[in-house]
Amino acid sequence: MSQDLFEYSKKKPILPGAAISSAPQPGPAAGESGMSEAPVSSGASNPFAGIVTLDELKDVASECRRCRLCETRKTVVFGEGNPKARLMFIGEGPGRTEDETGRPFVGRAGELLTRIIENGMHLRREDVYIANVVKCRPTVDGLGTRDRPPEADETAACSPFLLRQIEIIKPDAIVTLGNPSTRFLLKTTEGITKLRGTEASFEGIPVFPTYHPSYVLRNGGDSSPLKKDVWADIKKVMAKLGLPLN
Ligand code: SF4
Repeated sequence: MSQDLFEYSKKKPILPGAAISSAPQPGPAAGESGMSEAPVSSGASNPFAGIVTLDELKDVASECRRCRLCETRKTVVFGEGNPKARLMFIGEGPGRTEDETGRPFVGRAGELLTRIIENGMHLRREDVYIANVVKCRPTVDGLGTRDRPPEADETAACSPFLLRQIEIIKPDAIVTLGNPSTRFLLKTTEGITKLRGTEASFEGIPVFPTYHPSYVLRNGGDSSPLKKDVWADIKKVMAKLGLPLN
């Protein structure tokens, strides 16, 4: 099975019995203005605490100018998936393809994540919810030539959107993909290599850190030894959610 996780398959994914109902909610994002650094916390301190649906929150994000990334983005990539998903995947930020399409994880790394969800977990992509820490594409020069992780002030400005997404969705488990989302949710400076393979917690929600798909692709691609680690992490998530490990 560990190999199937990363291979292309034309077979229809099997949706496990009870678990995860579907109600896709794709598309671009929403906005607000002001260059302030919002507090990195949920609850009443969140400026979006009064927003009760993902659609409303997306509308706000679509016009957001809370940080410098608004100057270079093409599209705000809010996130997509089942608004009642039991499982959320959280990456770091949109890349080129995501910026152009307004959808998260649709480039090469997105294809790998989709294979993990569909071939490995036997879920449909639209059954889970996929988002990023920042909703606009960070690039090294602001000209769109090379992606970079979000800066601390960009994460601080954008995090109220993610925190509110989590509060509205109320997932049973979260998979953080790579350092930025893992460090943000777990409030740590430890690296993903040390944190993956363990179950952590955010506001009572189990969190399973693992490698970002693009990191796997950069480190051996389909031959990457990291595949085994990712699959081990995903199996822990499946066990937590009661999904069959067939
Ligand atoms: S990254 Fe987030 S905070 Fe910054 S402009 Fe985009 S939506 Fe707003």
